[in-house]
Amino acid sequence: MRMAFPETIVAAFSVMHEMSVALSIVEAVDAKARQEGSGKISEIALVIGRLAGIDAQSLRFCFSAAARGSLAEGCSLVIEEREAEGVCQDCGNRFSVTFLVAVCPRCQSLSVQRVSGDEFLIQSITIEEE
Ligand SMILES: [Zn+2]
Repeated sequence: MRMAFPETIVAAFSVMHEMSVALSIVEAVDAKARQEGSGKISEIALVIGRLAGIDAQSLRFCFSAAARGSLAEGCSLVIEEREAEGVCQDCGNRFSVTFLVAVCPRCQSLSVQRVSGDEFLIQSITIEEE
């Protein structure tokens, strides 16, 4: 009997990646809220670039589990997905890119520098006043 084992492993790894990201977010915001001497966190705003390699859907799923028992438990997660942009090093054209390797649509140059899209940051947290 043959089983689709590799697929299962890949899926598990990808969830593990989002899970470790979720845990780092919880750790960071929980520490910040405690430092401010505050109560619960009601909202966390994140920015995820399209090419950051983080799946927003999986992150949401992992986050609710990761936040359990922390000050971020049950808070809402606002995720802004940011488009990726590149600048052509040959003609200066600026355009949106969807892959890690991009071709300039104006001059077909492969010398494109990505200027955004791989960012991942916690933009703000909202904490409840006590
Ligand atoms: Zn160009």
